[in-house]
Amino acid sequence: MHAYELLLKLQNHEIELKTQKNKSKIDDLNSEIILLKAQLPTEIVTRFYRLFKRYENALVRANGGVCNGCFLNLPSSQAAVMNKCSDISTCQHCGRFIYYDTEKANAIF
Ligand SMILES: [Zn+2]
Repeated sequence: MHAYELLLKLQNHEIELKTQKNKSKIDDLNSEIILLKAQLPTEIVTRFYRLFKRYENALVRANGGVCNGCFLNLPSSQAAVMNKCSDISTCQHCGRFIYYDTEKANAIF
């Protein structure tokens, strides 16, 4: 599984936790979150939570070379500015994590 897929799951779980009232579902989400965090590099997790406090979507998809968080154009050199986690990048405008849909990556660049 790609790192961005893990991070996306983590984000979806955290978003669901904000509104989830069912105790056993909350427990399930929390234990899945622990598992997801364990599979991601610590610096990615730490940064994610810092961003998540500020933005509702800390991880967004790059949409045709545009950040889906701030809707500004990403430099075409962005592909080269990847994190250690090769499939997660950072928007230089808003700092959000961005990922490229690998199946469509060829169409974007
Ligand atoms: Zn952005």
